[in-house]
Amino acid sequence: MTTIVGIGTYLPVWEVSGRRTAGLDEDALTLAVAAGRALLEGLSARADTESTDVRQVVFITRDLPLLEGGNSAALLAGLALDDDVPVVEQVGGGPAVLDAVATASPGTLVVAADLEPAGAAAALIGETTPAPTPGGAELSLLARVARSLPLSSRGRDGGRWDYDDPRLLLERGTKAALAKLDLEDPPSVISGVTPKIAAQLSGGRSPALPTTGASSAIFALAAASAGDVVAAAEQGSAVAAALTGAPQVWRDEAAPQPLPRTRMTPGPDIGISLPAYDRAFDAKVRWEAGSCDECGQLAMPPRLRCLGCGSEAGWTLTPLPRVGEVYTKVDIHVPVPGRATPYSLAIVALDDTDVRTLVTVTGAPSGSVEIGDRGRLVLRLIDTRSGVPDYGHALLPAPAEPQGETA
Ligand SMILES: [Zn+2]
Repeated sequence: MTTIVGIGTYLPVWEVSGRRTAGLDEDALTLAVAAGRALLEGLSARADTESTDVRQVVFITRDLPLLEGGNSAALLAGLALDDDVPVVEQVGGGPAVLDAVATASPGTLVVAADLEPAGAAAALIGETTPAPTPGGAELSLLARVARSLPLSSRGRDGGRWDYDDPRLLLERGTKAALAKLDLEDPPSVISGVTPKIAAQLSGGRSPALPTTGASSAIFALAAASAGDVVAAAEQGSAVAAALTGAPQVWRDEAAPQPLPRTRMTPGPDIGISLPAYDRAFDAKVRWEAGSCDECGQLAMPPRLRCLGCGSEAGWTLTPLPRVGEVYTKVDIHVPVPGRATPYSLAIVALDDTDVRTLVTVTGAPSGSVEIGDRGRLVLRLIDTRSGVPDYGHALLPAPAEPQGETA
């Protein structure tokens, strides 16, 4: 049994055919960071701040951006966690995530992300005894089943092979796995299947969930009520767990917008300089400026010689505010090889500092941002250079109408 301190969810703003889709500047890692930040910022605003202590991160997805390592550094930096927090990267779907949330040790942040349909969700596990985390909900593993139904495979050349039979997948895979869980009553919330099938298998109770992959298990917990049995299924595997109490949920789920039309221009992209990438990493991904050790003036990126006092004594990285106002902006229509056009750039004046920063605009059609508009700075995939994801921060304009922030 575990105690869920809280849940954070994220849905990208773009929608195609009724399904959320990741922007070209988003991948599984930026989705995971957005969900994790929704949770950690929500928890830190709550009174009991000691419960936000993250001692381990478990990142579960089938869409890891880098298979050769490097995801964990960006994940920790994006979440503003220390770089010595252990990270487990796991390839898996909803059952693996529900299993992890139901069995993880206190202090574990379980983050799951999917690209199709796109979404991410995070759950933080707290102390169960001697003093249960205030406001937490308890989750107990009821059953798990793993059967072999290999419907997708990858060859040695990296080529993917899909056994394309949705009816077989549903009947012999998902439904058979759920039946094999041998539960007394049908689960109240079922993830990993379409909303129609979930409703059918739960006697009409299971709510529609925005994703079907790894993150769907945490979206299911976010939608569940106290006393519900939650099941996660995929292909041949399924896991069921019982929830007592309802976890607090912080949702970063903007109203959907149609994906704008953009044009990719063929041509060589801009090559990467790994030394430059390495030097800028903490400032860009952690969103920190160099603060002069003599006079405290901020510089983004950090500078060898302070522009305020001329000191070369050094600097210390300091977190920057993540909200600001558009100072000026430009819309780019000129084709740029390797980049989707049109797009917008903005110089953003960050709140409570004299720092202005040049960033791309995300989550809004090109040309829609005006001088004076306010927004948040969020982690995005700024570019892919020489095949390496280059993460940094972009401006997400504030929605025109107020959005509900809690559920
Ligand atoms: Zn100085």
